[in-house]
Amino acid sequence: MIAGIDIGGTSTKIGLVRDGKVVATKRIPTVGEDAPGIPPGTAFAEALASALKGLCDEHGAVTACGIGVPNGNPFTGSIDRAPNLPWKSDVPLARMLQDRLGVHCSLGNDANAAALGEWKYGAGQGCNDLLVVTLGTGLGSGIIVDGKLLLGPYGNAGELGHTTLVIDGRMCTCGRKGCLETYVSIRGMRQTYLDLADSSEPLKAEGVLPIAEQARNGEDAAIQTFRDTARWLSVGLVNAVAMTVPKRIVLFGGIARNGDLLMGPLKRRFEEDLFYIYHDKVELLLSALPEDDAGILGAAALTEQ
Ligand SMILES: [Zn+2]
Repeated sequence: MIAGIDIGGTSTKIGLVRDGKVVATKRIPTVGEDAPGIPPGTAFAEALASALKGLCDEHGAVTACGIGVPNGNPFTGSIDRAPNLPWKSDVPLARMLQDRLGVHCSLGNDANAAALGEWKYGAGQGCNDLLVVTLGTGLGSGIIVDGKLLLGPYGNAGELGHTTLVIDGRMCTCGRKGCLETYVSIRGMRQTYLDLADSSEPLKAEGVLPIAEQARNGEDAAIQTFRDTARWLSVGLVNAVAMTVPKRIVLFGGIARNGDLLMGPLKRRFEEDLFYIYHDKVELLLSALPEDDAGILGAAALTEQ
């Protein structure tokens, strides 16, 4: 059995994985308060270790532990000052947890974990040239090429979300303008909808659900939001195809799971937009992993790297 830890901005999911299935889970808050003079991340490492030990007491021991986290550095095992996490300096979490658990801990960034999870357990199984795109608050991506996860010298290769889609476009959280994720993400779609609907009223519900509902009711601005998002995503994907030529692209996240609202226009645009030498050579699929388990499975898959 392997432990998978999926660290998010507000909460952290801990799971036990056996034979590619999540058998038990627990959730703890991602909190970062440490007393002065105590190394950053100590309180969180303690809380993680104790929650995981509790799970193991109930369900059995683990042989390894994988941690997926924003800005996770697979070479140092540290969280490198992630903008949406509470620690303002690097946290060597893999080592801190290893010291407390006595099993080997692997750490990697969450987008790469998602790609590995899809490759080992999901819609990417058996495909050695794979691109996995995670559509959430932002846009994350991980690339498998020639049967290897593409890391680059610093462990952060393949950041499709921060490739430029529009020169001088929307302001991005990375400090630059026009990044793909400012258009193709939950945040981006909500902005697109507000622009198209010419409304200054904020959307009531979270995520893209209210836009999907309006689109199903036939509202023009909502339908156009999905079409525009599909067009932008298509451009991002065909540019990525030209770099590493994946045989398969797997899309993960709630945005893509709205029936044909996004996937319909996306599939049409994508084949049209592709450089002809790649026509009919790239499969476009939805993730096959349950949304709740994907982060844990991905983190667990990091242990096999
Ligand atoms: Zn950016």
